[in-house]
Amino acid sequence: MDLNLRDKVAVITGGTVGIGLAVAEGLAEEGANLVLVGRNKERGDDEAARVADKFGVIATAIAADVATAEGCDAVIKGVARAFGGADILINNAGTGSNETIAEADDAKWQYYWDLHVMAAVRLARGLVPGMTIRGGGVILHNASICAVQPLWYEPIYNTTKAALMMFSKTLANEVVGSNIRVNTVNPGLVLTPDWIKTAKQIAGEDGWQAHLQGVADEAGGMKRFATPAELANFFVFMCSDKASYSTGSTYFVDGGWLKTV
Ligand code: NDP
Repeated sequence: MDLNLRDKVAVITGGTVGIGLAVAEGLAEEGANLVLVGRNKERGDDEAARVADKFGVIATAIAADVATAEGCDAVIKGVARAFGGADILINNAGTGSNETIAEADDAKWQYYWDLHVMAAVRLARGLVPGMTIRGGGVILHNASICAVQPLWYEPIYNTTKAALMMFSKTLANEVVGSNIRVNTVNPGLVLTPDWIKTAKQIAGEDGWQAHLQGVADEAGGMKRFATPAELANFFVFMCSDKASYSTGSTYFVDGGWLKTV
Protein backbone atom coordinates (compact mmCIF):
# COMPACT_ATOMS: atom_id res chain seq x y z
CA MET A 1 0.00 0.00 0.00
CA ASP A 2 1.60 3.29 -1.07
CA LEU A 3 1.01 5.83 1.67
CA ASN A 4 2.20 8.70 -0.53
CA LEU A 5 4.62 9.97 2.10
CA ARG A 6 7.79 9.96 -0.04
CA ASP A 7 9.72 13.26 0.19
CA LYS A 8 7.30 14.75 2.72
CA VAL A 9 9.04 16.63 5.53
CA ALA A 10 8.12 15.43 9.03
CA VAL A 11 9.06 17.25 12.24
CA ILE A 12 8.93 15.01 15.29
CA THR A 13 9.43 16.50 18.74
CA GLY A 14 10.89 13.93 21.09
CA GLY A 15 11.92 12.07 17.95
CA THR A 16 15.22 10.85 19.32
CA VAL A 17 14.10 7.87 21.44
CA GLY A 18 11.03 5.84 22.39
CA ILE A 19 7.73 6.45 20.62
CA GLY A 20 8.96 9.50 18.69
CA LEU A 21 11.91 7.62 17.28
CA ALA A 22 9.67 4.71 16.25
CA VAL A 23 7.34 7.13 14.47
CA ALA A 24 10.37 8.70 12.78
CA GLU A 25 11.52 5.29 11.57
CA GLY A 26 8.02 4.41 10.37
CA LEU A 27 7.80 7.61 8.35
CA ALA A 28 11.34 7.17 7.01
CA GLU A 29 10.45 3.66 5.87
CA GLU A 30 7.78 5.33 3.72
CA GLY A 31 10.36 7.75 2.30
CA ALA A 32 9.65 10.85 4.41
CA ASN A 33 12.50 13.20 5.32
CA LEU A 34 12.87 14.00 8.99
CA VAL A 35 13.62 16.64 11.57
CA LEU A 36 14.21 15.01 14.97
CA VAL A 37 13.88 17.33 17.95
CA GLY A 38 15.21 16.67 21.46
CA ARG A 39 17.37 18.44 24.02
CA ASN A 40 20.24 15.95 23.88
CA LYS A 41 22.24 17.00 20.81
CA GLU A 42 24.48 13.97 20.59
CA ARG A 43 21.59 11.50 20.71
CA GLY A 44 19.67 13.52 18.11
CA ASP A 45 22.62 13.71 15.72
CA ASP A 46 23.39 10.00 16.14
CA GLU A 47 19.80 8.90 15.53
CA ALA A 48 19.32 11.25 12.57
CA ALA A 49 22.46 9.84 10.93
CA ARG A 50 21.45 6.24 11.67
CA VAL A 51 17.88 6.61 10.36
CA ALA A 52 19.04 8.50 7.24
CA ASP A 53 21.53 5.77 6.47
CA LYS A 54 19.09 2.93 7.16
CA PHE A 55 16.21 4.26 5.05
CA GLY A 56 17.98 6.45 2.47
CA VAL A 57 16.16 9.64 3.48
CA ILE A 58 17.38 13.07 4.60
CA ALA A 59 17.26 13.38 8.38
CA THR A 60 18.50 16.20 10.53
CA ALA A 61 18.38 16.82 14.27
CA ILE A 62 17.63 20.05 16.09
CA ALA A 63 18.74 20.25 19.72
CA ALA A 64 16.09 22.39 21.42
CA ASP A 65 13.96 22.55 24.56
CA VAL A 66 10.39 22.81 23.23
CA ALA A 67 9.16 23.78 26.71
CA THR A 68 10.56 27.25 25.97
CA ALA A 69 9.62 29.89 23.39
CA GLU A 70 13.28 30.10 22.32
CA GLY A 71 13.43 26.34 21.80
CA CYS A 72 10.31 26.35 19.63
CA ASP A 73 11.70 29.28 17.68
CA ALA A 74 14.90 27.33 17.05
CA VAL A 75 12.82 24.43 15.69
CA ILE A 76 10.77 26.69 13.40
CA LYS A 77 13.89 28.43 12.04
CA GLY A 78 15.82 25.15 11.75
CA VAL A 79 13.00 23.56 9.73
CA ALA A 80 12.89 26.58 7.43
CA ARG A 81 16.67 26.40 6.91
CA ALA A 82 16.80 22.67 6.31
CA PHE A 83 13.67 22.10 4.21
CA GLY A 84 11.86 25.41 3.65
CA GLY A 85 8.87 24.17 5.71
CA ALA A 86 7.14 21.04 6.95
CA ASP A 87 4.29 18.80 5.76
CA ILE A 88 3.90 16.85 9.00
CA LEU A 89 4.27 17.90 12.64
CA ILE A 90 4.23 15.28 15.40
CA ASN A 91 3.98 16.94 18.82
CA ASN A 92 5.29 14.05 20.88
CA ALA A 93 7.83 15.44 23.37
CA GLY A 94 6.51 14.89 26.86
CA THR A 95 7.01 13.08 30.10
CA GLY A 96 5.12 11.71 33.07
CA SER A 97 4.86 13.51 36.39
CA ASN A 98 4.55 12.41 40.01
CA GLU A 99 2.95 14.65 42.65
CA THR A 100 -0.13 15.53 44.63
CA ILE A 101 -2.16 18.65 43.95
CA ALA A 102 -1.63 19.63 47.57
CA GLU A 103 2.14 19.65 47.24
CA ALA A 104 3.05 20.59 43.66
CA ASP A 105 4.09 24.23 43.23
CA ASP A 106 3.20 26.66 40.45
CA ALA A 107 6.57 26.19 38.73
CA LYS A 108 5.91 22.50 38.18
CA TRP A 109 2.46 23.13 36.73
CA GLN A 110 3.94 25.81 34.50
CA TYR A 111 6.71 23.53 33.20
CA TYR A 112 4.28 20.81 32.12
CA TRP A 113 1.91 23.37 30.63
CA ASP A 114 4.80 24.75 28.57
CA LEU A 115 6.01 21.28 27.52
CA HIS A 116 2.68 19.62 26.73
CA VAL A 117 0.56 22.54 25.56
CA MET A 118 2.57 25.66 24.69
CA ALA A 119 5.04 23.68 22.57
CA ALA A 120 2.11 22.59 20.39
CA VAL A 121 0.70 26.12 20.30
CA ARG A 122 4.03 27.71 19.39
CA LEU A 123 4.98 25.13 16.78
CA ALA A 124 1.54 25.39 15.16
CA ARG A 125 1.89 29.17 15.00
CA GLY A 126 5.32 28.82 13.41
CA LEU A 127 4.78 25.89 11.03
CA VAL A 128 1.13 26.15 9.88
CA PRO A 129 1.76 29.11 7.54
CA GLY A 130 4.36 27.08 5.65
CA MET A 131 2.08 24.02 5.56
CA THR A 132 -0.66 26.17 4.08
CA ILE A 133 1.67 27.40 1.33
CA ARG A 134 2.66 23.78 0.61
CA GLY A 135 -1.01 22.94 0.05
CA GLY A 136 -1.80 21.22 3.34
CA GLY A 137 -0.39 18.95 5.98
CA VAL A 138 -0.92 16.82 9.04
CA ILE A 139 -0.46 17.63 12.74
CA LEU A 140 -0.66 14.85 15.32
CA HIS A 141 -0.63 15.31 19.08
CA ASN A 142 0.59 12.48 21.24
CA ALA A 143 -1.43 12.91 24.44
CA SER A 144 -2.23 9.85 26.57
CA ILE A 145 -5.07 7.71 27.82
CA CYS A 146 -4.49 9.74 31.02
CA ALA A 147 -6.06 12.72 29.26
CA VAL A 148 -9.44 11.10 29.91
CA GLN A 149 -8.71 8.32 32.42
CA PRO A 150 -6.45 9.88 35.04
CA LEU A 151 -3.79 8.10 37.07
CA TRP A 152 -3.88 9.18 40.72
CA TYR A 153 -0.15 9.93 41.01
CA GLU A 154 0.18 12.37 38.12
CA PRO A 155 -2.49 15.10 38.24
CA ILE A 156 -0.32 17.55 36.32
CA TYR A 157 0.25 15.06 33.52
CA ASN A 158 -3.46 14.19 33.34
CA THR A 159 -4.51 17.83 33.23
CA THR A 160 -1.99 19.09 30.68
CA LYS A 161 -2.58 16.12 28.36
CA ALA A 162 -6.35 16.79 28.52
CA ALA A 163 -5.63 20.40 27.56
CA LEU A 164 -3.52 19.21 24.64
CA MET A 165 -6.49 17.18 23.37
CA MET A 166 -8.72 20.24 23.41
CA PHE A 167 -6.04 22.34 21.75
CA SER A 168 -5.81 19.72 19.01
CA LYS A 169 -9.57 19.82 18.39
CA THR A 170 -9.61 23.60 18.34
CA LEU A 171 -6.64 23.84 15.98
CA ALA A 172 -8.31 21.30 13.68
CA ASN A 173 -11.32 23.62 13.34
CA GLU A 174 -9.10 26.61 12.59
CA VAL A 175 -7.00 25.03 9.84
CA VAL A 176 -9.43 22.64 8.16
CA GLY A 177 -9.86 25.09 5.28
CA SER A 178 -6.12 24.97 4.61
CA ASN A 179 -6.22 21.21 4.02
CA ILE A 180 -4.41 20.56 7.29
CA ARG A 181 -5.67 17.59 9.31
CA VAL A 182 -5.15 17.70 13.08
CA ASN A 183 -5.74 14.75 15.42
CA THR A 184 -4.77 13.39 18.81
CA VAL A 185 -3.52 9.89 19.58
CA ASN A 186 -4.00 8.61 23.13
CA PRO A 187 -1.67 5.67 23.77
CA GLY A 188 -1.93 3.26 26.67
CA LEU A 189 1.22 1.42 27.81
CA VAL A 190 4.14 1.60 25.39
CA LEU A 191 7.37 -0.14 26.26
CA THR A 192 10.00 2.56 25.84
CA PRO A 193 13.54 2.46 27.30
CA ASP A 194 12.38 4.87 29.99
CA TRP A 195 9.77 2.39 31.30
CA ILE A 196 12.46 -0.31 31.47
CA LYS A 197 14.90 2.00 33.26
CA THR A 198 12.29 2.94 35.85
CA ALA A 199 11.19 -0.68 36.33
CA LYS A 200 14.81 -1.71 36.92
CA GLN A 201 15.16 1.04 39.51
CA ILE A 202 12.02 -0.14 41.29
CA ALA A 203 12.37 -3.92 40.99
CA GLY A 204 16.01 -4.61 40.05
CA GLU A 205 17.58 -6.67 37.25
CA ASP A 206 15.73 -9.82 38.25
CA GLY A 207 12.34 -8.29 38.94
CA TRP A 208 11.74 -5.58 36.33
CA GLN A 209 9.90 -7.76 33.82
CA ALA A 210 7.51 -9.07 36.50
CA HIS A 211 7.02 -5.49 37.67
CA LEU A 212 6.03 -4.36 34.17
CA GLN A 213 3.74 -7.37 33.76
CA GLY A 214 2.05 -6.28 36.99
CA VAL A 215 1.49 -2.82 35.52
CA ALA A 216 0.00 -4.35 32.37
CA ASP A 217 -2.18 -6.77 34.35
CA GLU A 218 -3.58 -3.88 36.33
CA ALA A 219 -4.44 -2.00 33.13
CA GLY A 220 -6.41 -4.99 31.88
CA GLY A 221 -7.55 -5.40 28.28
CA MET A 222 -4.70 -7.11 26.42
CA LYS A 223 -2.61 -7.06 29.61
CA ARG A 224 0.58 -6.17 27.77
CA PHE A 225 2.61 -3.19 26.67
CA ALA A 226 2.63 -2.11 23.04
CA THR A 227 5.96 -1.93 21.28
CA PRO A 228 6.83 1.57 20.08
CA ALA A 229 6.62 0.23 16.51
CA GLU A 230 3.01 -0.94 17.06
CA LEU A 231 2.03 2.56 18.04
CA ALA A 232 4.11 4.10 15.25
CA ASN A 233 2.13 2.14 12.65
CA PHE A 234 -0.97 4.05 13.69
CA PHE A 235 0.81 7.42 13.54
CA VAL A 236 2.15 6.67 10.06
CA PHE A 237 -1.33 5.74 8.83
CA MET A 238 -2.75 8.97 10.33
CA CYS A 239 -0.07 10.97 8.50
CA SER A 240 -1.00 9.42 5.18
CA ASP A 241 -3.67 10.21 2.61
CA LYS A 242 -5.35 6.95 3.65
CA ALA A 243 -6.63 8.91 6.67
CA SER A 244 -7.84 11.77 4.44
CA TYR A 245 -11.29 12.16 6.10
CA SER A 246 -9.95 12.16 9.67
CA THR A 247 -9.58 15.45 11.44
CA GLY A 248 -10.51 16.95 14.80
CA SER A 249 -10.62 13.56 16.51
CA THR A 250 -8.92 11.59 19.25
CA TYR A 251 -7.90 7.98 18.67
CA PHE A 252 -7.09 5.57 21.48
CA VAL A 253 -4.35 2.99 20.93
CA ASP A 254 -4.38 1.38 24.35
CA GLY A 255 -4.90 -2.37 24.06
CA GLY A 256 -8.33 -2.03 25.67
CA TRP A 257 -7.19 -0.21 28.84
CA LEU A 258 -9.81 2.56 28.49
CA LYS A 259 -12.71 1.64 30.76
CA THR A 260 -15.39 3.76 29.08
CA VAL A 261 -16.68 4.32 25.54
P1 NDP B 1 10.69 9.08 26.24
O1 NDP B 1 10.99 9.59 27.59
O2 NDP B 1 11.17 7.74 25.82
O3 NDP B 1 11.18 10.16 25.15
C1 NDP B 1 10.83 11.49 25.29
C2 NDP B 1 11.36 12.26 24.09
O4 NDP B 1 11.00 13.63 24.25
C3 NDP B 1 12.87 12.23 23.99
O5 NDP B 1 13.25 12.30 22.63
C4 NDP B 1 13.29 13.49 24.72
O6 NDP B 1 14.58 13.90 24.31
C5 NDP B 1 12.16 14.44 24.27
N1 NDP B 1 11.93 15.55 25.19
C6 NDP B 1 11.53 15.51 26.48
N2 NDP B 1 11.43 16.75 26.99
C7 NDP B 1 11.77 17.61 25.98
C8 NDP B 1 11.86 19.01 25.88
N3 NDP B 1 11.60 19.81 26.92
N4 NDP B 1 12.23 19.54 24.70
C9 NDP B 1 12.50 18.75 23.64
N5 NDP B 1 12.42 17.41 23.67
C10 NDP B 1 12.07 16.85 24.84
O7 NDP B 1 9.09 9.17 26.08
P2 NDP B 1 8.04 8.19 25.38
O8 NDP B 1 8.50 7.79 24.05
O9 NDP B 1 7.63 7.17 26.38
O10 NDP B 1 6.80 9.19 25.27
C11 NDP B 1 6.62 10.06 24.18
C12 NDP B 1 5.27 10.73 24.35
O11 NDP B 1 4.25 9.74 24.45
C13 NDP B 1 5.15 11.59 25.61
O12 NDP B 1 4.46 12.78 25.31
C14 NDP B 1 4.35 10.72 26.56
O13 NDP B 1 3.62 11.50 27.47
C15 NDP B 1 3.46 9.98 25.60
N6 NDP B 1 2.95 8.71 26.12
C16 NDP B 1 3.82 7.69 26.43
C17 NDP B 1 3.33 6.49 26.90
C18 NDP B 1 4.23 5.34 27.22
O14 NDP B 1 3.74 4.33 27.79
N7 NDP B 1 5.51 5.37 26.91
C19 NDP B 1 1.89 6.29 27.06
C20 NDP B 1 1.08 7.41 26.72
C21 NDP B 1 1.61 8.58 26.26
P3 NDP B 1 15.57 14.75 25.28
O15 NDP B 1 15.50 14.09 26.63
O16 NDP B 1 16.89 14.65 24.61
O17 NDP B 1 15.03 16.13 25.28
